[in-house]
Amino acid sequence: MIPFALPTIEDDDVAAVVDTLKSGWLTMGPKTIEFENQLKLFTGAKHVACVGSCTAALHLSLLAYDIGIGDEVITSPYTFASTGNMIDQTGARPVFVDVEKSTFCMNPKNIEKAITSKTKAIIPVDFGGQPCNYTAINKIADEYDLIVIADAAHSIGANHDGKSVGTLADATCFSFYATKTLTTGEGGAVATDDEDIADRIRLLRLHGISKDAWRRYEGVGTWYYQIEECGWKYNTTDINAAIGICQLNKFSRCYHRRFEIADMYTRAFCKLGDILPHTLCNNTNMWHLYPILVEGRDEFIKHMGSRAIGTSVHFIPLHLHPYYEYTYGYRKGDFPNAEWLFEREVSLPIYPRMTDESVQYVIDAVTEWYRI
Ligand SMILES: *Cc1c(COP(=O)(O)O)cnc(C)c1O
Repeated sequence: MIPFALPTIEDDDVAAVVDTLKSGWLTMGPKTIEFENQLKLFTGAKHVACVGSCTAALHLSLLAYDIGIGDEVITSPYTFASTGNMIDQTGARPVFVDVEKSTFCMNPKNIEKAITSKTKAIIPVDFGGQPCNYTAINKIADEYDLIVIADAAHSIGANHDGKSVGTLADATCFSFYATKTLTTGEGGAVATDDEDIADRIRLLRLHGISKDAWRRYEGVGTWYYQIEECGWKYNTTDINAAIGICQLNKFSRCYHRRFEIADMYTRAFCKLGDILPHTLCNNTNMWHLYPILVEGRDEFIKHMGSRAIGTSVHFIPLHLHPYYEYTYGYRKGDFPNAEWLFEREVSLPIYPRMTDESVQYVIDAVTEWYRI
């Protein structure tokens, strides 16, 4: 059995969790601050605030920029629930624009047509591990005075035009969910160069309680706190942060292995026709996913299942889900490229723990399907 995804949890991760458990400090505290500082160095962003998930990161980023009722936010329909749902949760309207078939990312040419007097922000979604075209997106955002919040759940560590993810948007949201390239089990973070935004996210992630409140539990602290805004319970924990610090240490080794696997797939599948993922020449691809495009997708998934190979489909476009149909009136046919990709997309297993034998087994199963 080859599962679709497996995290790289090793002895150091286990030891770090045990140390944290024994330290007596379990929730957000010193390990979280250490992880945030390392993420700053890793991404090049001036500020990083860790939260409980990328979903929370997206929600708080929107709120920190005062986006809410009456506003519109332009985003991609080709994404997970979080992106659209968090726009909706603020009271703003998610305005989808179609994606490019080559990268699965929003086509910047579609953004300008979707801008109205109510548009406040753009949320590009970096699909599979490569960044969107931030050069073009930021140009539009500058011209129309819009905020850019990156959904970088797949792309931590990547570059676009030589700039690293975390510095390409006003705020960048990362996911440390179990299947992502850098995991803490559950977790997320916002990276930004704007100190006020980082401070507001730190306030909102813990009930709106003044930002150093957690220090009240330290010897030198006091019992006093103030609720400055009505916030959320979106903090992370030191148990998660301890794993994150270990994962950052091994990130380049893990990336190197993902890259090797992607290379093996690409060399094997290029003979099978135009089924391969495309990486643009000014992007690096972190290979969170290896998406191929298959005619007869559902049969192909059954075939892979019969060979005990786990696969997945990314994503069911948001505009096809009932909530988005009955709330916003989106319909099948609205975003043809997203629908075309969705009908064909299959994500193959790609993770550092895969052996060469497993990769070859997947290659053989895919090749076999094309011969049948
Ligand atoms: C995984 C994912 C998220 C949500 O991440 P969580 O940390 O689970 O909240 C958001 N956007 C995209 C594109 C994702 O793949």
